[in-house]
Amino acid sequence: MPTFKDNPALIREVIMDHYEYPRNKKLKNDPSYTKVNLDSESCIDNIDLEVKVEDGIIKDICFDGVACTISTASTSIMSELLKDKSVEEAKVIIDNYIAMLHGEEYDEELLEEANAFVNTSKQANRIKCATLSWIGLKDILNK
Ligand code: ZN
Repeated sequence: MPTFKDNPALIREVIMDHYEYPRNKKLKNDPSYTKVNLDSESCIDNIDLEVKVEDGIIKDICFDGVACTISTASTSIMSELLKDKSVEEAKVIIDNYIAMLHGEEYDEELLEEANAFVNTSKQANRIKCATLSWIGLKDILNK
């Protein structure tokens, strides 16, 4: 796995790739999905997030809406990283991701491409953008 720390070129490449070609950015509008709307007062971000959980496994995550580079890329990466994970595994990964964004200790190995947001913790006004959909998903999984 490439290391993101001290590698701004890699960080930029991964974030721009997920912003320009967001994965799973299409709502399914299927009643078997749980849907939430997430919006931010501090940014343009207004995301509809849909997740399908079956037998304790996250079968699908998708989203749509208006969002900045950071929130689009972080939601796209989340949708790939947490798909096919168990709810319990996903909660651990989300907690580690949020810890990273808050400058706390976390397990880098769990986060894969989500490590691209390691430096976002230094931009206070961007932390909300990077965690909006992750916190939204955690709320769904906790229900
Ligand atoms: Zn934003």
